[in-house]
Amino acid sequence: MVLVLAAFFLLPVLLVAVRDDKTIPSKPLIEPLPDFDWKSTPPMKLRPFKPTYNITMAIQCSTPSDLIVMDSNYLPRVTARRQLIAQHPSSVLGTCTTRKSSGDAAVRELYTYLLGTYLPTRYPAMFELVQLQAPGPSASGNYHQNMNLQNVTSMLFRNKVTGLESPIYPLPSSLGPDEMLRIVGETVEDDMFLLLRDRDTDDSSDGMGSGGGGGEHRAVAFVCCNPAGFDPAEKLGKRLVDIHGPVPAYEKIGPSMERYFGRLEVGKVVKRVNWTVQTHSRTYTPRGHLVHVGETAEEETSINVEEARVRVELQSLTRLPQTKAALFSFKTYMYPLAEMKAEGLGPQLADAIEGLKAGNAPGMWVYKGGVRWGRVACDMAGTLRNVVVVGGSYVGLPRFAITSGHEHKAFIPFTSLFSNTPIGPPRHQVARARAVSLQPHTLTLDREWQGTKTIPFDYLIVATGTRLAAPGTMPGDDKPPSVRYLQGHQARVRSARSVAIVGGGAVGVQMACDLKEAYPSKTVTLVHSRDRLLPAYHEALSNLVRARFRELGVQLVTGSRVVVPPGGFQDIDDSDNGNGQASTTLHLQDGRTLSAEMVIQATGQTPNNQFLLGLSSADNTGMEPSSAVVVNARNGFVHVRPTMQFADARYPHLFAVGDIADSGAHKAARPGMAQAAVAARNVASLIRGEEPGEKVAVAPAGIHLTLGLTRNVIFRNPNTAAGETEPFINLKDDGREDMGIDGVWVRRGVVVTSPQDYHL
Ligand SMILES: Cc1cc2nc3c(=O)[nH]c(=O)nc-3n(C[C@H](O)[C@H](O)[C@H](O)COP(=O)(O)OP(=O)(O)OC[C@H]3O[C@@H](n4cnc5c(N)ncnc54)[C@H](O)[C@@H]3O)c2cc1C
Repeated sequence: MVLVLAAFFLLPVLLVAVRDDKTIPSKPLIEPLPDFDWKSTPPMKLRPFKPTYNITMAIQCSTPSDLIVMDSNYLPRVTARRQLIAQHPSSVLGTCTTRKSSGDAAVRELYTYLLGTYLPTRYPAMFELVQLQAPGPSASGNYHQNMNLQNVTSMLFRNKVTGLESPIYPLPSSLGPDEMLRIVGETVEDDMFLLLRDRDTDDSSDGMGSGGGGGEHRAVAFVCCNPAGFDPAEKLGKRLVDIHGPVPAYEKIGPSMERYFGRLEVGKVVKRVNWTVQTHSRTYTPRGHLVHVGETAEEETSINVEEARVRVELQSLTRLPQTKAALFSFKTYMYPLAEMKAEGLGPQLADAIEGLKAGNAPGMWVYKGGVRWGRVACDMAGTLRNVVVVGGSYVGLPRFAITSGHEHKAFIPFTSLFSNTPIGPPRHQVARARAVSLQPHTLTLDREWQGTKTIPFDYLIVATGTRLAAPGTMPGDDKPPSVRYLQGHQARVRSARSVAIVGGGAVGVQMACDLKEAYPSKTVTLVHSRDRLLPAYHEALSNLVRARFRELGVQLVTGSRVVVPPGGFQDIDDSDNGNGQASTTLHLQDGRTLSAEMVIQATGQTPNNQFLLGLSSADNTGMEPSSAVVVNARNGFVHVRPTMQFADARYPHLFAVGDIADSGAHKAARPGMAQAAVAARNVASLIRGEEPGEKVAVAPAGIHLTLGLTRNVIFRNPNTAAGETEPFINLKDDGREDMGIDGVWVRRGVVVTSPQDYHL
């Protein structure tokens, strides 16, 4: 019969297992966490930087319960450890051979304590003991002496996360100490060293030169997959002082460290933290991490902010009750440097890096590798924050695809964008490139900018808007071909005797009015799927547009969708043959057809979200992919909070504004600008370390709509929350054929001294 034995039943064992002669605990020393969910537990955020680095023991009391800390990194970390152990078995684990029996017993005690008691007790949702029961004599054994093993034929430790099982009772004779260390190493994330006092070993005169008259601690076994700059195997058999031989100024704490080890009581757990910086994300770094005396180190000139890590070890020390071995263990945390910056800790970290030279162990600067990465890491962690805005435009000039002579003014250089800002251009840069991928703290471009395709940032605002069917979106990124493209479109319009516009939103309506007013002799037909035009607005706008269509002679076909061929209606020749063009037949879903020599598609906007779709895969929290959380799967827009931050709580430093934001506001310039202002103020708050308090209030939808070359209307839906029932309508006749584009150039800071400047 197989029984799954809840580890609670073993608590009496535990009480004895960690009991010391002097300290008899009155309650269980290991507090079970029955509801602990490792997947949803983020790794601890340890931020141990101080402006001056002084070498001290700096230990803090902990509890036996907290000996091992679990979090969402568990599975990827233990999986990686399994691979490391397979690749480097002789480097990452070992038991002292000259003191075999002592090392052996300590490893066995560690193994049975962790797997047989601690883990199933503390984390029963992750680990359990499985007991095979049968009638028979009770078993006995050194470390099982306190278990009630009557009728138990065997017991297994089962790791519910990895599915792996390991024997607990009886321990097979084939299960040697290295095999036990392997199992421990693959079961917990912590690296472990067992140390015995020379007088506790069975052979204290092995000629290893303890020199301390006995009683010094010596490493007798280890499993260490995350060595930070040392080969763990080289530490085996060494005394504490020799283990720390390369550490600068260790002599300042060495004697007290040895005394502390000597006084360490069974059942007591203490912790301390240690930190450094590295320019990559690997945890197995036996070499090339520290700089030892006599080694030369080249200063690095650049640092990849996504790769660079602040590496923190949470170190624990305790003593096992039976062999009296000291257990020194540590869990390695890797925090992206960019994460520190995003938390506003950049300056603190920069001070701490500089402070490595400043304390009672100035050699730490070289030893920890500061000599290599210190300057670039300080620069990067320093005070200035990098804020990136992706997208910088204000679309909405379909007229220039119809009327000629102004198309070159539609493309305004970004060269003077920041010339009017108070701080001036040196701190503002414009990168002319397409963003292809967003990671939590870097943006990847489609081309090099300032020698790199990767831009690190602290805060990023997505303002990539939407794209339209031609001619609303240019086929290329450069001005001359785009101007030529618009001119070609104008020519096609000129030569076509009939034009059908598909879609009765703002773009379709404006183009239809422009076309019919500029070319009264052409047949202009607008086809719209519903009866009401501009359906996001009060029906008064639809009625107003219908009246204007009648006045201009625009034909309106409503109530059925056009069947758009795959690839759209874009396969029309660019040339103007002056004799009109071949007709295209449009099929409506209700069976109606109509023909036109030119078809213009104005059927909505597609969000420019492609570069966001990789965001989830960069997440290292072990959580499920979350692009669906970043981007609203129903419409492709970015989920945002009223602060314009991404709704996805993992990215409080990412914002979206304008058309790309799923804000509940209508897609227009005015709400976009209000959102941009809110996002900017919230970024400033975050930089100051404050809460982002500004929120956007969604106002009733409004639009400034052209109804021909000069007619236009300012229309706003009624504010029903304020009790309004009628829309605001302001019909005007003050428009200009060039739409006042010269003024936009001025607002963009471009000084135009001659008409030629518009061709820049
Ligand atoms: C034809 C038309 C007429 C309009 N008329 C009006 C009007 O009269 N009044 C009004 O208020 N609103 C109008 N609008 C709406 C208004 O133009 C938009 O609401 C506004 O432009 C949205 O601004 P945005 O910055 O969010 O996005 P956009 O203006 O779309 O700008 C986005 C920018 O991001 C860039 N981009 C996209 N992807 C990337 C990437 N991966 N990497 C780098 N850059 C990228 C794009 O090239 C573009 O330059 C109109 C829109 C259209 C299409």
